[in-house]
Amino acid sequence: MRRQNPHELVERVVAGDRTALARLLSVVEQGGPPSALASSLVWPQGGQAYSVGITGAPGAGKSTLTDQLICLVRKSGDEIAVLAIDPSSPYTGGAILGDRVRMSDHFTDVGVFIRSMATRGHLGGLALAAPGAQRVLDAAGFPWIVIETVGVGQVEVEIAGAADTTVVVVNPGWGDAVQANKAGLMEIADIFVINKSDRAGAAEAQRDLEGMLDLSDIGHDEWRPPVVRASAATGTGIDDVWRAITDHRARITNDKSLKVRRGKRLRVELQVTMARLLEARVMERGHGAGFDRILDDVIARRTDPIAAAERLVAEMVTT
Ligand code: GDP
Repeated sequence: MRRQNPHELVERVVAGDRTALARLLSVVEQGGPPSALASSLVWPQGGQAYSVGITGAPGAGKSTLTDQLICLVRKSGDEIAVLAIDPSSPYTGGAILGDRVRMSDHFTDVGVFIRSMATRGHLGGLALAAPGAQRVLDAAGFPWIVIETVGVGQVEVEIAGAADTTVVVVNPGWGDAVQANKAGLMEIADIFVINKSDRAGAAEAQRDLEGMLDLSDIGHDEWRPPVVRASAATGTGIDDVWRAITDHRARITNDKSLKVRRGKRLRVELQVTMARLLEARVMERGHGAGFDRILDDVIARRTDPIAAAERLVAEMVTT
């Protein structure tokens, strides 16, 4: 593949070139200086997209639901992008196959863009790579971005929870399956979808969730996550899911909490990025003759590790 100039790529992405979009996403995913440059170039181009996180256990029906939502959004004439993140899958090939299967329904439609993030086990980096990719899709002009993650681990839940509206997908009988992370899911959910409601136990699952919501400390004037029953496989209840999403969007837009949410997200991203940058510099500084001399002083007990570290850091930040 020809080396791509990020400036040219971003220009093409903003102009609607989907091949350039796929390439730019790879640049951002790989990290490093080209990714940082690409990020700074797309930043001024974005800000219009609305993101919807969809999370839930493997097999809960997230992809099926997403496909249904794509159809619904496309009928309204809007374009939509999907970022599917499955860090639990060790097979990046599997993710590509997944794209193909899903693209088969939408591949003739330029208004739909689906991308799986190849994470190669770098779960920690994902927390930064995901917002980077999201901003590229934003700059490409998609008004809707769906971020689909497997809601089992803390990081995946965090990523999905970093969307403007977060949908948690559960199934009848879900309680036992995701027991470990129930609290985490309760915390991030703006909407619960009981998918596979064509099966037995949907009413119980709804009662269970409503009961948990009753016990949580949601204030009178706060948004209470609606519990929507749906069957993505048959298409039942998809309108209700979409209505819940647009209701939530209207609510947080009107009461200004969308702005607050986004501000909080950027605060965390900024802090994490600062820590990353400093960490890289520390790793650099922690080698070489100068460092070894100080280490020798510590080993010989001429100075203590904390004082030595403080001195090294003080030197680092002033240089
Ligand atoms: P994901 O892993 O959460 O993305 O789940 P998928 O969307 O791949 O769905 C997992 C399996 O559940 C597939 O075999 C789907 O056909 C099936 N499935 C999805 N939605 C429904 C539903 O509403 N009812 C039933 N009975 N099966 C469903």
